Amino acid sequence: MNDFTDTTALVTGGSSGIGLAVVRRLVAEGAHVIVTGRRQSALDAVGTELGDAVTTVQGDVTDPAAIERIVDAVRARGGSLGLVFANAGGGSFAALGDITWEHFTDTFNANVGGVINTVQAALPFLGRGSAIVLTGSNIDVKASPAFSVYAATKAAVRSLARSWAAELVDAGVRVNVVAPGPIGTPGLSGLADTPEDAGSLLDGLAAGVPLGRLGTEDEIADAVLFLGSPRSSYVTGAVLYVDGGASQV
Ligand code: NAP
Repeated sequence: MNDFTDTTALVTGGSSGIGLAVVRRLVAEGAHVIVTGRRQSALDAVGTELGDAVTTVQGDVTDPAAIERIVDAVRARGGSLGLVFANAGGGSFAALGDITWEHFTDTFNANVGGVINTVQAALPFLGRGSAIVLTGSNIDVKASPAFSVYAATKAAVRSLARSWAAELVDAGVRVNVVAPGPIGTPGLSGLADTPEDAGSLLDGLAAGVPLGRLGTEDEIADAVLFLGSPRSSYVTGAVLYVDGGASQV
């Protein structure tokens, strides 16, 4: 038996990057995974790769109709979730002075509103021993020039996890945050305008990490599977920084 045998898990933003690595690991450990994302083509690729082990649900986590489709998918799988990984999100650069209302609302709606939507939708399906893991970022405690709104969304995610962990103690549901440092995902490279700029961006980020490199998606998946399994049964309300020491050393 693996930790996730006969478990249904929900992974938002599971069609790329960190989320996809988590989906693959959960399936390898015996879970059925409900995978969400906005691009149907990316979801179709996940379905082709993982077959019956996944249910894909297209939609934006800020869209109530998409959230309803996720709820329908959970019901269709028997109405019980062992793990919710609220991971969908992202950001873009905007220096102070250039922050528009649209930038602010788009970033907060996806990264904070989307997490609230996901967790509230999943709540009726979470029983004793199940776990919620939210994707934060190590920049929740760091200065991040031209990335302040994104950083603020991740500080909000960290705060939500603490309050929700307290609220869900009696229900026997643990809530934790995984806080990645720079991880070589399509989402991170996509912050740059050109492939050349992406190379410089990634090199610069790696140079700022005490371990001297970017992290891998699998290294974040290791942390998520720990926080999402009984192996972390005495951990709730915590932030696990998986960032090569960048926020701590
Ligand atoms: P990624 O490769 O771009 O993957 C993001 C995933 O989320 C994709 O499946 C994407 O699919 C989905 N998504 C994005 N916005 C969504 C929305 N509004 N509704 C539904 N799905 C949405 O990026 P990643 O680097 O793996 O990022 C995953 C999470 O890790 C994010 O929360 C990010 O902030 C966080 N993070 C990343 C890093 C890093 O260095 N990579 C560091 C710290 C934190 P569609 O585009 O098709 O919707």
